[in-house]
Amino acid sequence: MTPATKRRVSKPPLELGELEHESAHQETRMATHITEECINCGACEPECPNEAISEGDEIYVIDPKLCTECVGFHDYEACQAVCPVECCLPDPELREDESTLIARAREIHKDKSFSDDFPSRFKK
Ligand code: SF4
Ligand code: SF4
Repeated sequence: MTPATKRRVSKPPLELGELEHESAHQETRMATHITEECINCGACEPECPNEAISEGDEIYVIDPKLCTECVGFHDYEACQAVCPVECCLPDPELREDESTLIARAREIHKDKSFSDDFPSRFKK
């Protein structure tokens, strides 16, 4: 696979409900995506608490509807922590705040209770 044949990971636009969570008074961060530097090692996939990472057609991909930037589980992005080429990076086209991300974690993990001091990179 040459660089020219690689494709960038496309992302669906934010849904209205997600946009409504954005607040001018809250710090926003950027959701995580995988760039074309991915070498398909697979190290990130089992680390994701939300099973948001999968093998795509050419490189691994993150489902933005499942990614919480690890909010609720870690105070860092687990995929970034293990990626040997550091290609799990903030997506400049997708900004999400902590309240949006913990709400998503609660929606995904309905059987889990998250205390008010849940782990979050926003609290570092
Ligand atoms: S940042 Fe966390 S939740 Fe998002 S894809 Fe990476 S490991 Fe999964
Ligand atoms: S750890 Fe990095 S290089 Fe390996 S599959 Fe995941 S994104 Fe690609």
